[in-house]
Amino acid sequence: MGDSGLKALESQVARDLQRIAYPKSDWVPPRYDTSGGRVLDALIVGGGQGGLAIGHGLLRNRVTNIRIVDRAERGLEGPWMTYARMATLRSPKEVNGPDLDIPSLTFQAWFEAQHGAAAWLALNKIAKEDWVAYLLWLRDTLKLPVENRVEFQRVDPEGEYLRATLVHLADGRVETVRTRKLVLATGIEASGRWWTPPVVETLDRRFWAHTGEAIDFPALVGRRVAVLGAGASAFDNAATALEAGAAEVAVYCRRPDLQRVQPFKWLSFPGFLNHFADLDDRWRWRFMNHLLSLREAFPKETWQRAAGHPNFRLETGAVWQRCEAVGDVVRLHTPRGRFEADFLIVGTGFDVDLPRRPEMAGIAAHAALWGDRYAPPAGEENERLARYPYLGSTYEFLEKSPDTAPWLRHVRLFTFATTVSFGPSGASVNAMKFAVPRLVSGIVRDLFHEDIDGHWQSLQAYDLPEFLLPGEEGAAAPAKPVIGLF
Ligand SMILES: Cc1cc2nc3c(=O)[nH]c(=O)nc-3n(C[C@H](O)[C@H](O)[C@H](O)COP(=O)(O)OP(=O)(O)OC[C@H]3O[C@@H](n4cnc5c(N)ncnc54)[C@H](O)[C@@H]3O)c2cc1C
Repeated sequence: MGDSGLKALESQVARDLQRIAYPKSDWVPPRYDTSGGRVLDALIVGGGQGGLAIGHGLLRNRVTNIRIVDRAERGLEGPWMTYARMATLRSPKEVNGPDLDIPSLTFQAWFEAQHGAAAWLALNKIAKEDWVAYLLWLRDTLKLPVENRVEFQRVDPEGEYLRATLVHLADGRVETVRTRKLVLATGIEASGRWWTPPVVETLDRRFWAHTGEAIDFPALVGRRVAVLGAGASAFDNAATALEAGAAEVAVYCRRPDLQRVQPFKWLSFPGFLNHFADLDDRWRWRFMNHLLSLREAFPKETWQRAAGHPNFRLETGAVWQRCEAVGDVVRLHTPRGRFEADFLIVGTGFDVDLPRRPEMAGIAAHAALWGDRYAPPAGEENERLARYPYLGSTYEFLEKSPDTAPWLRHVRLFTFATTVSFGPSGASVNAMKFAVPRLVSGIVRDLFHEDIDGHWQSLQAYDLPEFLLPGEEGAAAPAKPVIGLF
């Protein structure tokens, strides 16, 4: 199997895409800026699973004048090979996404092509290294135009287009790109920041790190590690510290009990994933306020990986009220008394807060937030959720105040910050096959509608006869060329 299996699969993919290629022609009229440069139809920032799936969706809709940029090196896109410290994805192996429902493009097809059906049946969950290798295979097989080591810095309006500023990290070259549409598929925390409670933030940095950061685990050998938070990343990091040889690892959580119910499993049905976004504000807020306050459970494997160590401890009802550095030790003051640790790992997730992102500089001041658009009834207030962007029906930003930044509708967001408006959508494998087609359809709709005058004229001028009459041979114009895999 191995490479030959993959080769056979790639031929299958080519046949499958060819069979569903209708209609085959590019249809978006080329646009040029004032200096004669070709304007992109869409620029996608982020070459992770989200950006790749959106690129795939656009190419399937014959929107081919696109670029996908990522500041990471090839293979280091996303969290998987950087700060993700679990062995496998947490999602069930059957969850498909970037394939957009083409069976030969699924992770299962990729895995079976190399290892066989029996190995697939035996597989519990997807190893993160395999997920990355699969995403790179998908990107190469679909010839998605990804450029690595290119950083998006900001976007500004310029006439009817957007002017995006990119920096090529290899040589520092600054490039200005004009594009009609922009998609920010920049990662789970990329609409805000990794959040650290103030009690920790004031401590010297030698005492702590966040789970979203690089951590020197070998330096934790023989030390007492305290982890704050009881989500999947907190436990993944606790287990990594234990495996690295920490003397003891204690996980502290604010709640009296571990959250072991995964509410996001409940909502994994097409009705919710496809049409949550079509509900009114009251229902969308009510559901997401409940779900995002419940927090997520983590898989059994994650618990067993940490709890299986004799020097692991769980401290519930033990929020850190005060952290005090005394020499090389940190004293943790909690409602359950005082504890000590040599190093702290903060597993408290991220906070959505657009102004904190430098690349959102041109956007944050004008973008509508839920706090601008919806006043929840008494008892449902949630200051954290109020900072989530209030997005349009296909992930586009909306103006905080009318006519202050109409260009925002050309910018779409696909990070976790889309969750209050759409339910699970950006930064999730589970919801991708429902979320990406909606976003892509919005871009395709807008490109078509914005060119409607041109399409009308093109229709008026369309006179290609279906057949020639005797004496007309050689008169008609040739048919339009078919381009690439799509
Ligand atoms: C530790 C961890 C485990 C997870 N496990 C699961 C799971 O099992 N199942 C699940 O459904 N979800 C999971 N998720 C959630 C989600 O699926 C992942 O976060 C996933 O990586 C999101 O994909 P993405 O393409 O949206 O973002 P990413 O994969 O993070 O890709 C975003 C890319 O954007 C690039 N980028 C960011 N800013 C810029 C910029 N300004 N210029 C250029 N490039 C930029 C980054 O370099 C990155 O490569 C997990 C998340 C984390 C953090």
